[in-house]
Amino acid sequence: MTEEKKIKRPRGIARLIPGKCIACGDRCQGACPKNAIEMNDKGEPIIDVQKCTSCRKCIKICPAEAIELYYTPEELKILAELEKAKAAAPEVEEVSAEEAATLAKINEYKGVWVFVEHTEGVPATVSWELLGIGAELAKTRGVELCTVVIGDGMQHLCQESFAYGASKVYLMADPIYHYYRTETYYKAFCFLIEKYKPEIVLVGATGLGRDLAGAVATQLATGLTADCTGLAIDDKGFLLQTRPAFGGNIMATILTERTRPQMSTVRPRVMPMPEKDDSRKGEIIRESMPLKEEDFAVKIIEIIEDATRGDEYVDVAAADIIVSGGRGMQAKDNFSMLQELADELGGVVGCSRAVVEAGWMPVERQVGQTGKTVRPKIYIACGISGAIQHLVGLQQSDVIIAINRDKQAPIFEVATYGIVGDVFELVPAIVKRIRELRNKRAN
Ligand SMILES: Cc1cc2nc3c(=O)[nH]c(=O)nc-3n(C[C@H](O)[C@H](O)[C@H](O)COP(=O)(O)OP(=O)(O)OC[C@H]3O[C@@H](n4cnc5c(N)ncnc54)[C@H](O)[C@@H]3O)c2cc1C
Repeated sequence: MTEEKKIKRPRGIARLIPGKCIACGDRCQGACPKNAIEMNDKGEPIIDVQKCTSCRKCIKICPAEAIELYYTPEELKILAELEKAKAAAPEVEEVSAEEAATLAKINEYKGVWVFVEHTEGVPATVSWELLGIGAELAKTRGVELCTVVIGDGMQHLCQESFAYGASKVYLMADPIYHYYRTETYYKAFCFLIEKYKPEIVLVGATGLGRDLAGAVATQLATGLTADCTGLAIDDKGFLLQTRPAFGGNIMATILTERTRPQMSTVRPRVMPMPEKDDSRKGEIIRESMPLKEEDFAVKIIEIIEDATRGDEYVDVAAADIIVSGGRGMQAKDNFSMLQELADELGGVVGCSRAVVEAGWMPVERQVGQTGKTVRPKIYIACGISGAIQHLVGLQQSDVIIAINRDKQAPIFEVATYGIVGDVFELVPAIVKRIRELRNKRAN
């Protein structure tokens, strides 16, 4: 049996290309780790071939590209043969032992999980919205769609999870979870994840969800992408998490390649609601862990209603029709005109951030990246330019109507119907016409 001899790749020797040195100062000499370069009177390098190890540092640093690697004709022949052999050989992806261990660990994780957020048993709608996109991800991956319910009792949330598409619920039920507390909930959630190893975990980007997801991801040392506006699976099976970045000016797609689970938060109303089917059934996995009340520093003493949510409070995120005003409305008082239109249509008034900053409308009416994400049947944008940070909050609307006197305004690029004109003429005219039609119908 003959042993195949491995041909050694020639390294070459650094040498000066005559006439190219610009005597920049002794940069090449300073870069050489083997002290193989001396400078002559003209400021050119003299390379000691005995000391040179062909590390290329002098070649890289030379601003005049005056140093090259020299190969003998025999060495050039060997290089050509090696290249030929490389081209003919099938490409084998080399994987290090560390990489192989990471991949093996990642492959232990299976399934898509959605956290069911609730306030004393009243579910947050975003949880069911996440089951819609969760079902698509689970189908693409060929895995189960499950929910995580943590609370006191909560049997009804298990049933609702099945109705919205989950096939399994991981339930942690105990009086200690009656009210949300970061510490109790993240410990319970991490316990479940470590035991059952889901590959994807989705959480609503609400105040509670952001708090919980951050704590869980930190504890598990895994990736978390906040405020995703798009979720999909790539051809390698990774979760593609798309979200606005750099102030909303670009959409970034983020991957969690080396850790599991892949965690994302998604804002309410970004994903469509799946169909509910109360006849669906599923499996409940009951779990518990020994937590003692005295181990937790935070105690819930009293729940106080948010005082800002008085009679004036309007939840634009839940509205089916939104008449929204921008800086083009020019003054706070002019919003009464939009309120009239909203009243005629049975909708609510929203606004851009410029309006909130001007103090014309309260912040809870703001639509956009730093405001609410809305998903109405009709969104009417009046005097709004259509900055990307505003558009990300409304692009899921069924119909977008834009009124702007500047025909170049970016809002027209996303509008279903665009009207180039003055809001102060058009809005009253539309209100008048609606009233006329209504009166006509009544008579
Ligand atoms: C990190 C970050 C986050 C942000 N988050 C948000 C956010 O959540 N929501 C948000 O809205 N913005 C947000 N912004 C601000 C955003 O970039 C814009 O500055 C803002 O949306 C502009 O508001 P606007 O369209 O009302 O005002 P302008 O851009 O000033 O537009 C006013 C429009 O009114 C039109 N107009 C004027 N007069 C009339 C008239 N008589 N009739 C008809 N049209 C008229 C003009 O042609 C113009 O197009 C954010 C910015 C940053 C950097």
